[in-house]
Amino acid sequence: MTTAGTAHETTTRPGPAAARQHSLREHNLELVARAVFEVPEPLSRAGVATATGLARATVSTLVDQLVAAGLVRELPAVTGGRAGRPAVPLVPAPRTVVGLGLEVNVDYLGARVLDLTGDVVAERVVPGSFHDSDPTAVLARLGALARELSDEVTASGMTVAGARLALPGLVDPRAGTLQVAPNLGWSSIEPVPLLGLDLDVQVANEAKLAALAELAGGSDVAAPDSFVFVSGDVGIGAAIVVDRRLFLGERGWNGEIGHVVVDPAGPRCSCGAFGCLEQYAGKEAMMRAAGLPADAPLADLVARLRADDADLPAGRALGSALADFVNLIDIGTIVLGGAYTELLPWLRADVEAALTERVLAAPFVDLQVRAAQAGPHAALTGGAREVLARVLADPSAWV
Ligand SMILES: [Zn+2]
Repeated sequence: MTTAGTAHETTTRPGPAAARQHSLREHNLELVARAVFEVPEPLSRAGVATATGLARATVSTLVDQLVAAGLVRELPAVTGGRAGRPAVPLVPAPRTVVGLGLEVNVDYLGARVLDLTGDVVAERVVPGSFHDSDPTAVLARLGALARELSDEVTASGMTVAGARLALPGLVDPRAGTLQVAPNLGWSSIEPVPLLGLDLDVQVANEAKLAALAELAGGSDVAAPDSFVFVSGDVGIGAAIVVDRRLFLGERGWNGEIGHVVVDPAGPRCSCGAFGCLEQYAGKEAMMRAAGLPADAPLADLVARLRADDADLPAGRALGSALADFVNLIDIGTIVLGGAYTELLPWLRADVEAALTERVLAAPFVDLQVRAAQAGPHAALTGGAREVLARVLADPSAWV
């Protein structure tokens, strides 16, 4: 997990015996909520009792509390069960408690609200250019966008449980600090107060949140258990998922594949070094190589590629950087997100050739390069999902 801290503190302080009672109830509430949220087909109260091993009467009381809290919804009863008694299917409640994902990236600001069913309830993505920008002004602007969205959903009767702010750089979620985001030109700041939001907001790395969105699965294909997620935009970030969990290194500062060296004699990067991958396979580098303005929309590049009117030399550089990654960490599935998802048809051959050529284990493993399923601006979805995961981990705070 990239996050830490407690979102909702209880206000009462029970004595030791009551505490035991209280925490048992909290634990059981979480079990019941998870049983409802984490199954593909809706369960009835009896189904939840079977799944959790809790007594039917206990489950019924807890389900009533989750329904009253707006976390769980009862569908119309269906008959035809073995005992002949109608069963009431239980599902996550739509449009009640929602999570807010926020993002500052080099060429857009975004805010997205997800409800407990995983539906996008509202969103705004505003294009811009935030190279070497002023964090105070940019975060105030994103804060205003977030407030607008939050007011909108609150007016519709929803409750915003909190927010995650995705940033393209090194962040310390515990301290709430951004160490450095080279493309934004930001360093050593505390971003959350600059948003000016009256919400529990935590910071996280953009690629890590996008990988969590990917892990939740797309509409077509379930996510693999282990993969390298590469988020290719102006900057290039990566996240390593092992057995369905983020591998974070010592501080969560791994995955900086954009600053892997492609050519030490290459052009200077925003990080200060020379010949980093971003200078060859970042979005602006790809635009320039195709003869387009650096800030042209991705659709322009795709149109040129479709018309066979441009080259995409980024694939070789990306492939060789990925081969280094795979040689080091032994994960054979690579999921390409951000701008790479749409560009994959023109990147695939070069990426796969580089992997085959450079990964020592290539003849013995099934190396796979896939398009991300999580959709555009996946960090917004990952952030909102993280907020809702916290609600689910402690539903008693809402009961
Ligand atoms: Zn660099």
